[in-house]
Amino acid sequence: MTTVTAYAAPSAKAPLERTTVERRPVGEFDVLIDIKFAGICHSDIHQARDGWGEGIFPMVPGHEIAGIVTEVGPGVTKFAVGDRVGVGCMVDSCRECDNCKAGLEQYCTKGTVYTYNGRDKNGDPTYGGYSTHIVVDENYTVRIPDGLALDVAAPLLCAGITTYSPLKHWNVGPGKKVAVVGMGGLGHMGVKIAHALGAEVTVLSQSLRKKDDGLRLGADHYYATSDPETFEKLRGTFDVILSTVSAPLDFDAFLSLLRTDGTLVNVGAPEEPVSLNLFSLLNDRTSLAGSGIGGIRETQEMLDFCAAHGFGAEIELIEASQINEAYERVLDSDVRYRFVIDVATI
Ligand code: NAP
Ligand code: ZN
Ligand code: ZN
Repeated sequence: MTTVTAYAAPSAKAPLERTTVERRPVGEFDVLIDIKFAGICHSDIHQARDGWGEGIFPMVPGHEIAGIVTEVGPGVTKFAVGDRVGVGCMVDSCRECDNCKAGLEQYCTKGTVYTYNGRDKNGDPTYGGYSTHIVVDENYTVRIPDGLALDVAAPLLCAGITTYSPLKHWNVGPGKKVAVVGMGGLGHMGVKIAHALGAEVTVLSQSLRKKDDGLRLGADHYYATSDPETFEKLRGTFDVILSTVSAPLDFDAFLSLLRTDGTLVNVGAPEEPVSLNLFSLLNDRTSLAGSGIGGIRETQEMLDFCAAHGFGAEIELIEASQINEAYERVLDSDVRYRFVIDVATI
C-alpha cells in the first residue's frame, strides 16, 4: 500500500479537508496515475453531503481525473509510463454480463465499481480524484489525445461523456432541434457537443445571465425559463431535450416543449423525487428517458471527438484549499463552467 495526500469529507456535510488515503499496490493489469487535474462535478457535492444517502465516509470525491502514467503492472498492454490518461466515474465492473460485454459497463448488472463512494471487489472503499495518485485497472483507463490539454480534458471524463452518450443515442445531429436545460458543467458540454454534432441548439437556462457564453459555445438560441413566455413560444419545438438540472424540475412544463415523438432525456440527479402528470407524455407520444454516464469505449470515442473538434471544457482552475468555496458557488449556479482542482496544490 502507498499513502497519498487527498482532500476528503470526513463525514456527511462536513467541509472537505486535507488528509491521506491508502492506494493499493500496482497489480498485474493496473496503472499508477500521477493525477494532475480533477474536475468538480455536482455529483461530488450531492455525495459529499450525503444527499443521495448511504455515503461512505471519509469520502474522497473526484471522478473527472486527468494525469500521467508513472508505473504499469507486468500485464499492462494498453499504456506505458508517460502516457496522458483519464479516469471517469467507474474503475471496475463484472466484465461478464451482457451490458459489460456490450461496452455498457455503467449498467453492469452485477454492479459497477464507482471511482469513489463505492467498494472494490475486495470490499474496500474506493477513493476518487481529489488526491495525488490513483491505481486503476488499464481497462477502466482512457487515453487523453495529444491535442487536449489535461486541465480542460478532465471534465470530459464525466460532464463530457454524460452528455455525449445520450446525444449520440438519441441521434442528435443535422436537422435535429435539441434543447439543453441548465448551463452548468454538464450543460455547457452538452451545448458544445450538440453543436459539433450539427444540431440546432437551444439553451434553456434559469436566466439570460450566461447568454453570451451560450451563443459563443455553439448555441443558436438562448431562453430564460423564468419567463413564462418561453414555454408558450417554444411549445412543440424540440426533437430532444437534455436536462442537466441538479434540482427537481417541472417535467410537465418541459415535456410540452417536445414535438410529437420527441424525447426528454434527464441526466440530472436531484436529491428529491419529482412528480409527473402522465398526460404530458400521452398527448404527443413523447418519451421521458434517463441516461447514466457512458461506457469505457464510448468515453474514448468522446475524447477523440472533442480533440478532433478542438475543444475541452470551459474551466476555472482552483487550488485545493478553495474546494469548499467552489462547492458553494456550484450550488449557487455560479460556475463558469467547471471548477478544476490543480492537484499540485493538494
Ligand atoms: P452544475 O454545474 O451545478 O449545473 C447544473 C445547472 O442546472 C446549473 O448551472 C443551473 O443552470 C441549473 N439549475 C440548478 N438549480 C436549478 C433549479 N433549481 N432550477 C432550474 N435549474 C437549475 O451541475 P453538473 O455538474 O452539471 O451536474 C448536473 C446534475 O447532473 C447533477 O444532479 C449531477 O449529480 C448529475 N449528474 C448525472 C450524471 C449521470 O450519469 N446521469 C453524471 C454527472 C452528473 P442555469 O444557471 O443555466 O439555469
Ligand atoms: Zn460527475
Ligand atoms: Zn457487468
